[in-house]
Amino acid sequence: MNIDGLYIFFVALIGLSIGSFLNVVALRGLNGESIVFPPSKCPKCGKKLNWYTNIPVISYILLLGKCQFCKKPISIQYPIVECANALLYIAIFQNFGISIKTLLLWIISSIFILICITDLKEQVIIDFHTYILIAAGLLYNILKLGSINIIESILGILAGYLIFESMARIGIIIAKTRAFGEGDTLIAMGLGAIFGWKMLIVTIFISIILQAIFAMPLLFLKYIKNKNYLSATAIFLILICIISTKFINPQFEHYIAYIIILTALLLFCLITILKNLKNNNNSGLNYMPFGPALVLGALSTLFFAKEIINFFT
Ligand SMILES: [Zn+2]
Repeated sequence: MNIDGLYIFFVALIGLSIGSFLNVVALRGLNGESIVFPPSKCPKCGKKLNWYTNIPVISYILLLGKCQFCKKPISIQYPIVECANALLYIAIFQNFGISIKTLLLWIISSIFILICITDLKEQVIIDFHTYILIAAGLLYNILKLGSINIIESILGILAGYLIFESMARIGIIIAKTRAFGEGDTLIAMGLGAIFGWKMLIVTIFISIILQAIFAMPLLFLKYIKNKNYLSATAIFLILICIISTKFINPQFEHYIAYIIILTALLLFCLITILKNLKNNNNSGLNYMPFGPALVLGALSTLFFAKEIINFFT
């Protein structure tokens, strides 16, 4: 194994171990338990785990995804989170080498993973996680690790707040409910701190397109099941919007207008989903988490900022 391979191997080990820790942090954060105590245990039977059944990914494979005591299935979430964290750590390391920048981006990417777990699992974004994101974003630019200065970073936090709170309030006017949760506003503030207000707008833009894509299968299902033409219209509008991004190539100043149009579409889709749910309640999907789309948008901006700017200008 050459020296580069050895580095990657160690980075993967660090990523897997911290990923394993993130599973615990997310679950205990949701349950309001302490992070350090009590020790790892099976969530089903409560038995304490041995060190050798607590190795990231490997234990899951050796135990065939079942608890060694009660043989109940262990959630696939555990190995997925461990692998995702390791892959992000490797990607960041390969881009930025051994540096303070890599270390800070590792922290930021692990917070991203925490946000995805809690938002997907319980539709909750824990304030403490987003506060760390905002602080890490500020530190990132205080240390001059990105391409913006501290003023742009602070303006990014403000922009995140203003954009998301105004979008949320449009939701209250149209659908009598916030279009986004307060947690999403805090994530946007964190992304603003990292990228500054300009790239924040680009990031939100990408996230809304991703969210619209994620909403499509749901809308399609609604259409097939209930012959609901509102769903079909929503799908049609999303497609037009996504295709238009390929041809219009707006100048930067037009992004805000673009985002307003896409947000209106997204709101329309969410309202469509909500309306359908009133007809056949109990499916529990009256909320579509936006955190994961924001995180994916942020990762695209982090790794492909140049390509994205070239695409749009
Ligand atoms: Zn068990």
